[in-house]
This record gives sequence, structure tokens and C-alpha cells, in this order.
Amino acid sequence: MSDGEPVKKGKGTVFVKPEVCKGCSYCIDFCPAHCLEFSREFNRKGYHFPVLGRPEDCTGCDLCGLYCPDFAIFGMRFKDIEQRRQAAALAPQVPAGS
Ligand code: SF4
Ligand code: SF4
Repeated sequence: MSDGEPVKKGKGTVFVKPEVCKGCSYCIDFCPAHCLEFSREFNRKGYHFPVLGRPEDCTGCDLCGLYCPDFAIFGMRFKDIEQRRQAAALAPQVPAGS
């Protein structure tokens, strides 16, 4: 899963910035659910980047995000994504020009 609407199959999902990734594979190696794999495509730097190969196994634990040295990936639980959406919807609107 890259940027955009997550597909709800597991308990969570990941957000990937493919162009920032250096292909070190830490996220793939340390994912406890073994749900990440390298893409077939290359980014502009010439690296394969992670994709969620088994979304049904992702828990959104964010260990991938903790291990990534380049902040190119992070995981979130669906319930936390929903809470953030609701909080954003309730946030006070700042008047234009203030
Ligand atoms: S959020 Fe957790 S389970 Fe999902 S890909 Fe990252 S490390 Fe794996
Ligand atoms: S840990 Fe970060 S830089 Fe390394 S492969 Fe995963 S997303 Fe790319």
C-alpha cells in the first residue's frame, strides 16, 4: 500500500514513500508478521521499495517505521486512523487571514 486510501484486510496498514526508500530491507526483515515484500518496480534512485504483500497479516504495529532509517514507511492500526480522522473533523476551523 502506498499513499492513499488503505485497503482494510488486516488490523492495520502501512504508508510508504517509495521515492525516499533506499532499499535496505530493514522493514521487511523485522516485520513480525512477515507481510512486507519488495516491489518489482524501482524508484527513481534505482531501489526496490516495500509493498504490503499480505495485507491481511498487517497489524499496524509500526515496527517497520521504527526500523526504517529514512522515514520512508510507517504502519498504523485502522482504529487509530479512524480516530485521527474523527479528531480532524472536530478540529476548530481557523478563519482566513488570522
Ligand atoms: S505495521 Fe507491523 S505488521 Fe504491518 S508491515 Fe509494519 S511491521 Fe509489519
Ligand atoms: S527500512 Fe526504509 S529505507 Fe529500508 S527498505 Fe524499508 S522503507 Fe526502504
